[in-house]
Amino acid sequence: MVSSSAEPGMIQARWQAIQAECPNALNLLAVSKGHPAVAVRELADMGQIDFGESRVQEALPKQKELSDLTQLRWHFIGRLQANKVRAVVRAFPVIHSIDSQELAERISRIALEEGKIPEAFFQVKLRDDPAKGGWEPDALREVWQHLQTLPGLKPIGLMTMAPLGVEASDRQTLFHDCRTLADELDLTHCSMGMSGDWKQAAKAGATWVRVGSGLFGPRPERLL
Ligand SMILES: *Cc1c(COP(=O)(O)O)cnc(C)c1O
Repeated sequence: MVSSSAEPGMIQARWQAIQAECPNALNLLAVSKGHPAVAVRELADMGQIDFGESRVQEALPKQKELSDLTQLRWHFIGRLQANKVRAVVRAFPVIHSIDSQELAERISRIALEEGKIPEAFFQVKLRDDPAKGGWEPDALREVWQHLQTLPGLKPIGLMTMAPLGVEASDRQTLFHDCRTLADELDLTHCSMGMSGDWKQAAKAGATWVRVGSGLFGPRPERLL
């Protein structure tokens, strides 16, 4: 097995360390954006099934290279442009980043055409953050009934990201707010927490944490 990192086995060692700290009910999404297929393979060898990607043009060739690993489940976590919806629906059974009604409707329509029903996380914005998309809680409540009627997606949870520079205590509150909103909407899953804050998110009720650099090491380029 060829290792993609300087120190052989580093990725696997980090994965074991995180798994050891992960409560049973918590799912670890390995965010492989910016890292090659060989790195995904290393974790697949350990039993990791769920991988997250945020750019279609990067993900598709990687998925092709790994097509022998039929057990892998790919999660789309990036900002989703309208013209990429069909490609995403074809290649990703789970989408974490649905951030508008228009996008939700489009995904549903195209998913039905493709004979798919992706699992859907709705992205919420719990603090002002011009850099990020997502619903404010009241805006989501307003369209919630409608979103639930869309036949081509299966709502399972909320996804959120803390704005850069949020203090630890406020970050904790933000994660709690996401959990509370998910409970109100009767959604099981909260996708929240990344390499730097996944433990906080877990304490606040995350069911999925999205960890990239904490597993694979620093990304070669700054990828959103
Ligand atoms: C890149 C990314 C992550 C992982 O970030 P790390 O800090 O490397 O763990 C998680 N969620 C989303 C939406 C991302 O784009």
